[in-house]
Amino acid sequence: MSSSPLAPVSHTHDLPVLDWTHRLTQLGPRFFTPLQPTPVAAPRWAARNEALRAELGWPNALFDDDHLQAFAGNAIMVGSQPLATVYSGHQFGQWAGQLGDGRAIWLGEAASAQGPQEIQLKGAGRTPYSRGGDGRAVLRSSIREYLCSEAMHGLGIPTTRALSLVASPEPVRRETLETAAVVARVAPSFLRFGHFEHFSAQGDTDSLRLLADHAIAHHLSECRERAVLWQGNVYAALLDEVQERTARLLAQWQGVGFCHGVMNTVTLSLLGLSIDYGPFQFWDGFDPGHICNHSDHQGRYAYGRQPNVAYWNLYCLAQALAPLIDDQDMTLQVLEGYKTLFPRCLGDAMRAKLGLVDALASESEREADWTLVEDLMQLMAAEKVDFTLFWRQLSQAVVQQSTASTLTNAGWSAVTDLVLDRPRLLKWLARYSERAGQNNFAAMGQQMLRTNPKFVLRNHLAETAIRQAQAGDFSEIDTLYNLLKSPFDEHPSFEAYADLPPDWAGQLEISCSS
Ligand code: AMP
Ligand code: MG
Repeated sequence: MSSSPLAPVSHTHDLPVLDWTHRLTQLGPRFFTPLQPTPVAAPRWAARNEALRAELGWPNALFDDDHLQAFAGNAIMVGSQPLATVYSGHQFGQWAGQLGDGRAIWLGEAASAQGPQEIQLKGAGRTPYSRGGDGRAVLRSSIREYLCSEAMHGLGIPTTRALSLVASPEPVRRETLETAAVVARVAPSFLRFGHFEHFSAQGDTDSLRLLADHAIAHHLSECRERAVLWQGNVYAALLDEVQERTARLLAQWQGVGFCHGVMNTVTLSLLGLSIDYGPFQFWDGFDPGHICNHSDHQGRYAYGRQPNVAYWNLYCLAQALAPLIDDQDMTLQVLEGYKTLFPRCLGDAMRAKLGLVDALASESEREADWTLVEDLMQLMAAEKVDFTLFWRQLSQAVVQQSTASTLTNAGWSAVTDLVLDRPRLLKWLARYSERAGQNNFAAMGQQMLRTNPKFVLRNHLAETAIRQAQAGDFSEIDTLYNLLKSPFDEHPSFEAYADLPPDWAGQLEISCSS
């Protein structure tokens, strides 16, 4: 940790560029440690998210050369009060005790066109919670985080956002020697389940209540209304709100073929945002048992297990909130909600991928549709069909078949060409067509093209951007960013980015080290 204060960065005449508030700091010193980032050598912009800056109504000046220093952690924006927060939690199913922001430094909360937004610098140096770590993040994983945050947002999935990416030649040791980078990420709140587990484990119910009240007052005010469902118990309503957001998030992840890779209680957001992009992966070939985290030997966080692990994590949050809810039966009842809500959300997400969006569908229709989904997923898993390509081609085929006088097998060739067992897929397509009705295909197809993305952040695409950036060329980051922020658009000059991955992609192993 640096001791000498860093230079201030402001507009002329010491006017702050951002309008800061610091509601988190009002919680008091048990929740965080004030500190300064540690400077890095020779920072360079690797990416600036102009669209996000504009969306938030933040000025151009934010991305000028003075602010390069601020986003590198080499200077402090006027009005910012940097700190690192403390949390505890479970990692890979085991209680891990105190963790905390080991390399994410919180700059404060800045007013924006979308309400107050917290800004963190990830990789900006050691904190009291770094344990043995160096407080840094490598360029490789920072590019992945930057791009995936924005890809998720482009897909309509709640996520922390990425505002900037700064690269430095400073060496960082992981399995090999790499270089440092700092991502500035933005969210209404970076609170994790683990923030609550921390105070609960210490038996510090007063702090636990302060934190819960802070979350409800500033981030989850809908809990106050929801409390009527729970005999006025606002903390039960808090758990209920988080359970609902988590269920909706997980359904979206599953629907788009996203495997997070490290779903520890400290990497689940209280606001139901996707957070902490480490060894994540979007499917190439579909394989529900696939483990995307090289360090996850048991497959705890395999794609197919994500929904249950989310429930396990919610259970930990429920235990942490138990002293506040103070009613065990009610706590368990809230948790039960996930078990009906998640399948419902997943069912809707998968039906939407098939263009079946009738919200008034009866239970038996939903069940029949789910059978259709399951049969298709089995077929896809058996052949490890490319997940994104399949759904996109199916959407296109539905559009094309909508104009045919009658449905033909040839009309489905865009999808049947993706599998070996064509008769099996054709049988399924016949059932699907019967269910949907060809006269609905035109509208369905358009809706499917807005649901099934053409572009996702496949590992090999990120890898190409990483290799070029490591050689000093950051342009591929922008290219990917521009595709992934509108992943449902055709982008006809970028067909190769939507294609099957090259052979070398199969050899990529994504480690936990970042
Ligand atoms: P993760 O392995 O990313 O889930 O992080 C677990 C804990 O280790 C969190 O408290 C992180 O802040 C911390 N951590 C991860 N990497 C580093 C690092 N390079 N330096 C310091 N702390 C780290
Ligand atoms: Mg992490």
